[in-house]
Amino acid sequence: MDCNRCDDAAVMHAAYSGAHLCEHHFRESVEKRVRRRVRRDDLVPKDASPENPQTWVIGLSGGKDSVVLTQILHETFAEDPRIELVGLTIHEGIEGYRDRSLEACVDLAAALEIRHEVVSYEEEFDIRMDEVVEEDPENMAACAYCGVFRRDLLSNYAEQLGADLMLTGHNLDDEAQTALMNVLEGDVSQVAKHFDASLGPLSEREEQDEFVPRAKPLRDIPEKEVALYAHLRDLPAHITECPHSSEAYRGEIQQLLYGLEENHPGTRHSILSGYEELAGIVAERYRGDEDGVELRECVECGSTTTRETCRKCSLLESIRAV
Ligand code: SF4
Repeated sequence: MDCNRCDDAAVMHAAYSGAHLCEHHFRESVEKRVRRRVRRDDLVPKDASPENPQTWVIGLSGGKDSVVLTQILHETFAEDPRIELVGLTIHEGIEGYRDRSLEACVDLAAALEIRHEVVSYEEEFDIRMDEVVEEDPENMAACAYCGVFRRDLLSNYAEQLGADLMLTGHNLDDEAQTALMNVLEGDVSQVAKHFDASLGPLSEREEQDEFVPRAKPLRDIPEKEVALYAHLRDLPAHITECPHSSEAYRGEIQQLLYGLEENHPGTRHSILSGYEELAGIVAERYRGDEDGVELRECVECGSTTTRETCRKCSLLESIRAV
């Protein structure tokens, strides 16, 4: 089958749009969609200038998503003095997994000549995920611990690095799964938080002085297209499953979405666009209700929390007590 835009052979077919694209036009299409998302979400503020440059910290895991995001943002802004990119890699202490993806991050940052910082659970918290999984003091999934520690380090370091924006490589499949999970779990406040934390134009989100705003410029690109883009460009992405991956419910939703997408192409796009609209409305409603929620400093580490001791510090306490 030929490309719809030229006479070259197509390397992909997108059932949701009907497009058959050759390598050149496929790459161009991915890049255009990422840049369009950066514009639609107003990620470059109007007052950004060479005198007022913006620091964008990218959560760089070394997987295909964050590697593709870093590459495209670099090519978009390399000549733009208003934006400085910094890669931030979190090392969880997972034998044979993160060491290899860290190599991919180091290679990419060196090739693009961008600043790259690495922080580890071991240095920061004196724990390794391999040991946490073995001891499991709270009897819960590995990702439930890991997610809390990762979020804490990402926000702390984003702040320390003077970030104006924290960017992650979530793709369309990730976001459609999260949207469906939040709706199926009936957790309306989570829907509102998701919007204010990372969706929609920055100008429409609630300003939260305590947190660096988040952005997900890959969220219009299906996972398979991100993987194909990384492969075609021979980017140094590390593609292996974490040995402690335990998000069973997310896996079920993923399978459900594969089936729906096959029978009804475009399902993921419509879930996400409907969800973003809904989340914006819910966030607006919840802002009034949450005026009374008191944010305070964790008595242990000083981070912003709604409780006396933040979730990270309580988890660390139970891990150390084993
Ligand atoms: Fe951590 Fe779970 Fe991701 Fe593994 S899959 S790195 S345990 S969050």
